[in-house]
Amino acid sequence: MKKECEHEFKPSAYSGSWKKGTIWEKCSKCGKENNERPMTKKELKKWVKMCKEQDRKCKEWNKLWHTFSNKLSSPFKYKGYDLMERVERFAKKHPTVKIAHVDDSYFSSSYIAFFPHECKDEYWGTTALLIPQCSGEPATAFFLYPGHVDGLIKVLQEIQKNQKAKPRKYNL
Ligand SMILES: [Zn+2]
Repeated sequence: MKKECEHEFKPSAYSGSWKKGTIWEKCSKCGKENNERPMTKKELKKWVKMCKEQDRKCKEWNKLWHTFSNKLSSPFKYKGYDLMERVERFAKKHPTVKIAHVDDSYFSSSYIAFFPHECKDEYWGTTALLIPQCSGEPATAFFLYPGHVDGLIKVLQEIQKNQKAKPRKYNL
């Protein structure tokens, strides 16, 4: 007969305010979820400290992107070549901003600029700003969490594999 799990419940999720918090627990051995329970005073104190720390880090993580968007009042105030030039100038001053070249739907040189959200020891994610040069569309920003980056690389590697297997015969 299968031995019953001697559950070892560990916190798996938290929620709440600074006055009252809730904890969800999960067994680290079998994955069984326990009912939610209120935080003890000690846990609440730790939770509040964690929230404050998270707030502080969040400001730090978003600093570069906010510096950029404040400088331009918003990247969406500008578009096309005008915005590209501004991004290039910003990237020169902030070398962690990276630029990858693409074509827009008018086959004009365009690019995606990547703005890291990071502090000294932690990486939160990346804002990518796609700027079409000539199609008249405004720039589009999207966010990449580390998992998204991994997924994107995987897809790009498959595309690259296909490209290499079937190279173009006529290069203009
Ligand atoms: Zn268990």
